[in-house]
Amino acid sequence: MNRTSRKIFVLILLLIVFLFVSVDASIIDKIKKAIVITAERIQGWNLSLHEAMFYKKLADGSVQCQLCPFKCIIPEGGRGICGVRANVNGTLRAMTYGKPVAVHIDPIEKKPLFHFQPQSKSFSIATAGCNLSCIFCQNWTISQALPEESQHITMMPEQVVQQALTSGCKSIAYTYSEPTVFFEYMYDTGVLAHQAGLKNVWITCGYINEEPLRKLCEVLDGANVDLKGPTQFYQEYTKSGREPVLRTLKILREEGVWVEITNLIIPGANDDPDSIRAMCRWIADSLGTDVPIHFSRFHPNYKLTDRPQTPIKTLRMARQIAMEEGLQYVYIGNAPGEEGEDTFCPTTGEKVIDRKGFWILEYKVSPQGKCPDGTPLPGVWK
Ligand code: SF4
Repeated sequence: MNRTSRKIFVLILLLIVFLFVSVDASIIDKIKKAIVITAERIQGWNLSLHEAMFYKKLADGSVQCQLCPFKCIIPEGGRGICGVRANVNGTLRAMTYGKPVAVHIDPIEKKPLFHFQPQSKSFSIATAGCNLSCIFCQNWTISQALPEESQHITMMPEQVVQQALTSGCKSIAYTYSEPTVFFEYMYDTGVLAHQAGLKNVWITCGYINEEPLRKLCEVLDGANVDLKGPTQFYQEYTKSGREPVLRTLKILREEGVWVEITNLIIPGANDDPDSIRAMCRWIADSLGTDVPIHFSRFHPNYKLTDRPQTPIKTLRMARQIAMEEGLQYVYIGNAPGEEGEDTFCPTTGEKVIDRKGFWILEYKVSPQGKCPDGTPLPGVWK
């Protein structure tokens, strides 16, 4: 290889390394390097200048976002940790309003929501961004992306509702990334969805402040909240905290929103039987034994590729612990064919919903949500 070829080879190598590093960088890493945001740039990216809810203007031109517990103080031209809420001339702008990066029609079971309009379709939307930085994120290509580097379309709330109706969906799901960071888009769509007779479901990490959460509950019918693990797990693996998530779960129950919980079990990270037991006990004591929990199988992803997928025996162990703690509806997710995908009548023990993956093979629940013997099942059945 001559000198020129060597130089070209090294340059190509550096380019590959640069691309690799920038593609899997977290949203926080990217924000540190991001350019100053102006109204012209937002328009040039075909993003939105919609004014955000829940923020304070500060004397020096900064703003403080009040949407999630980070309460970012954002200088002019900057953006918050989530990457999508920017200070433009002293006004906080929700850049992803009406700019989804993912639009799909999913079975509601995929959310997962097992006690919510079973066998129905849910019109599912997401924008770029997330307020957490989970190193195991299964949707990191959109959650850890800046909005200007994402392929988005324009779809305003009325169009979302119209398309949901046209496609025969019974609900709209705010999902995939973290819907909290596109709060305004979710809320406005939710209002129109209710007017049109559709339900709204929020698939979330639950990291949100109380005031916006109570506002959101005005339009929410169901939620699946990730309860990721013990406090130390939150600090180490997600760069956030657990307490706000516990508060969110309590508020959702108080406000009458149907709640299910997902716990992704990661080998060597949050699979300790004692902490799983403590979590289940907290759910039983603080929320009730009728809250369904989904123990979900981890697959190596994003920055956490140094460990295997969750063994089936670990998922079964977690399910056993949850049932010992009195939880009545305990499911196993991402492992099709397991008995832990089915729903059993709490009175007779009869299998009343037989599932495989997201699909229902046999369904014995009445339209009123009752087992064949008349036992009511908790949930939203119509
Ligand atoms: S929603 Fe975004 S900008 Fe607002 S406090 Fe949370 S991370 Fe910061």
